[in-house]
Amino acid sequence: MMMAKIVEIFHSIQGEGKYLGVPQVFVRFFECNIHCSWCDTPHSIGDTTRHFKEYSLEQLALEIKKHWPGSHSISLTGGEPLVQADFIAQLLGVLQNLRMTSYLETNGILPNELSKVIDRVDIVSMDLKLPSSTQCGPFWKEHEEFIQIAKRKDLFLKVVVSNKTTIEDLQQAVDLVARSAPDVPFILQPNFFDMKEGVIDRCVEFQKVCLKRLSDVRIVPQVHKFMKLR
Ligand code: SF4
Repeated sequence: MMMAKIVEIFHSIQGEGKYLGVPQVFVRFFECNIHCSWCDTPHSIGDTTRHFKEYSLEQLALEIKKHWPGSHSISLTGGEPLVQADFIAQLLGVLQNLRMTSYLETNGILPNELSKVIDRVDIVSMDLKLPSSTQCGPFWKEHEEFIQIAKRKDLFLKVVVSNKTTIEDLQQAVDLVARSAPDVPFILQPNFFDMKEGVIDRCVEFQKVCLKRLSDVRIVPQVHKFMKLR
């Protein structure tokens, strides 16, 4: 029987991106395929001393149903959920049958795994990982392939801007998106930990640069951190 490694399942408010403020059920998958410098979910990284629980499809569906009343959608998050894409492909079939909207939160660097689930997913929240921000990568080729597959769904892109983010990296991301999906919402997300150090000014400056080539560029902070929600 196929099992998934899950860190936690809970109900909360989406604190980022295009669907900011909607109530969701969050399913946090264990493990990630990269390691960003600021990662706020260290328990999701492949550290086997951390805790996860294994769920069958039926067990997870039951748990989701318990948290579902009043929710807008199910956020499949992590870690990187696509590390467990075979399980997610099956889960999405169950969610479709239950008429629940699915929302995939991904680092956007596993296009082959995305291909396994894209037919059944509704919303894709994709990060563009800039090397100067994350201190890992670059993933330009993977990101471009990923966008090509994801753009037929309700896709939006998210770029975390820290005090280390360079204009050169941003420009490269804008070139890539201008080629592949210039009208998809492009969200600049100020890094919460740099808020006191002028990162908003940097976002405003970056937004002007992005708007020369992209049609929908927004600055959206992580609101759940201000609200002290998970
Ligand atoms: S992709 Fe997400 S989960 Fe993975 S290391 Fe980066 S911030 Fe953490």
